[in-house]
Amino acid sequence: MNELRKDCLLDRWVIIAENRGKRPVDFIQKQCEAKEGVCAFCPGNEHLTPKEILSIKGPHGWTVRGFENMYPATSLEFPQAFGRHEVIVEMNQHNKNLQDLPVGAIREVIDMYCSRIDDISKIDGIAYVLIFKNHGEEAGTSIPHEHSQLIALQRIPTLVEEELTAYKKYFNKTERCIFCDIITMEMESDRKIFENDGFACFAPFASRFPFESWLLPKRHVASITQLTNDEKNSLADGLKTILGKLDKLLKNPPYNYYLHIAPSGEDFHFHIEICPRVTKLAGFELGSGIIINTMPPEKAASELKSLTL
Ligand SMILES: [Zn+2]
Ligand SMILES: [Zn+2]
Ligand SMILES: [Zn+2]
Repeated sequence: MNELRKDCLLDRWVIIAENRGKRPVDFIQKQCEAKEGVCAFCPGNEHLTPKEILSIKGPHGWTVRGFENMYPATSLEFPQAFGRHEVIVEMNQHNKNLQDLPVGAIREVIDMYCSRIDDISKIDGIAYVLIFKNHGEEAGTSIPHEHSQLIALQRIPTLVEEELTAYKKYFNKTERCIFCDIITMEMESDRKIFENDGFACFAPFASRFPFESWLLPKRHVASITQLTNDEKNSLADGLKTILGKLDKLLKNPPYNYYLHIAPSGEDFHFHIEICPRVTKLAGFELGSGIIINTMPPEKAASELKSLTL
């Protein structure tokens, strides 16, 4: 039976449409054809990108590399769209995906995220740094070489503001963190996907997207930059696990993920929301703000949970 569900946190609604009886295989997308030509993100082509801001170096050159976006959405030079827009190339190999890297190499990407957040947060007038990733054309990228982006803004993005308001409202009522409570609930529920030493992963109750998965530190921590060394390793392992499971089940699906961290000075519970983009938003979704999700999160979690990598 279909079910209209409200998000645990936000005033956001979805229709979980169970009646269509879809299987994971029904969500597998056609692979886009590889484009020929020179890749600006490959080693040796550094001159094709804007000037390097920061890189992590290994014995054979850089392993993670950051620079300003060639066509920035925000810039320190745009008074009306003040901010930063950067690209973080996650690896020096062209034909691999993030989950194919060893945990140590994914950890370097996390270290890069932390360095850039630390640096950019110090700039006067920056209110928020959003790190996100587009993987695959349906998720908004035409460059197959794995990379994340960062957009810093002069205001806190609406979605983060809404989460923060809901977080505070719950805290004022209960003196507890809503995310800590959600983790406790979901680690006992049939939406649990897995957990490791530091992180918990589950399909949210009001999942908007088929196989949507959230990754949260088990310890209450406001930002990725405040994780301990061990927790950063757990995050690298958690990303490798969930992206690996999605890859295996849905055959390299397009997806977005984004990091929700506390704006500076605020308390919050850091998390990453991973959104496979295997269905399209249509008129009803645009017109109502309510998303119809044809894969119940309980079924999605059970499929992802039982997969071995
Ligand atoms: Zn490349
Ligand atoms: Zn918490
Ligand atoms: Zn969030």
